[in-house]
Amino acid sequence: MYDSFDRRINYLRISVTDRCNLRCIYCMPEEGIKTLQHSEILTFEEIAEVTRVAVKMGINKVRITGGEPLVRKGIVDLVAMLSAIHGIEDLSMTTNGILLAKYATQLREAGLNRVNISLDTLDADKYKVLTRGGELMQVLTGIRAAKDAGLHPVKINCVVQQSSEEPDAVMIAEFCRLNGLEARFIHQMNLTEGHFSVVEGGSGGDCSSCNRLRLTANGRVLPCLFGDQEFDVREHGAERAIRMALENKPACGSVNLTGEFYNIGG
Ligand code: SAM
Repeated sequence: MYDSFDRRINYLRISVTDRCNLRCIYCMPEEGIKTLQHSEILTFEEIAEVTRVAVKMGINKVRITGGEPLVRKGIVDLVAMLSAIHGIEDLSMTTNGILLAKYATQLREAGLNRVNISLDTLDADKYKVLTRGGELMQVLTGIRAAKDAGLHPVKINCVVQQSSEEPDAVMIAEFCRLNGLEARFIHQMNLTEGHFSVVEGGSGGDCSSCNRLRLTANGRVLPCLFGDQEFDVREHGAERAIRMALENKPACGSVNLTGEFYNIGG
């Protein structure tokens, strides 16, 4: 499917929960968030149905994100449901990796192709501060488990303050080189100020080649991360909500005053 600026839209990012087991300082407030009610969150059947409709309309690439997708109960079952949809050529997940050692093999067996793991530093103390309590060792074990399970490629999402030349980022690049991982450097963004930039090593942030739509945990289809428009699949039905998002996809992002990374999925 094509949007009104003739961009081919073939990528759907699905946030399956607004909850997270970390509190990264640039993503979530320390006190946590006002979480969605259980009834507001799409069921697995609803997510699979929206995805089926999206695939019929032209989506062939799906990423599961969050919040932290691995804290959603039954996540492996959802992966199996999505991987059974004919027409998805690339099924991936973005995770903080904390629970990956437990789930990597099951996820692979359920049909997940690959993972992006968020990791900004290799300094355990700094990691704990940045994530407000996270254990670096769990992520490193998760990365190893993902590789051993055959999830490929394993990409590392590293948020940088200024540039990929800063010491933590340089260490991540070297770690990736030595361990057969792909590094992607994402500049810290501010949705409300509309500060965004291209992802080094990835495809995000370049509006002219944007190919994505987003589905939030509470069933809103978003045309753009940097915009407030959203279309409710429960209100409009999946096809209409996707169509409206497509028609309203802006040429370029501006600001998002209502959403946050933790509910949209970054
Ligand atoms: N919990 C999962 C994780 O940590 O990867 C998935 C959700 S998280 C919101 C997705 C991505 O968004 C992560 O790579 C995270 O680093 C990134 N992110 C969150 N807040 C950001 C910000 N202010 N600027 C840039 N990237 C951000």
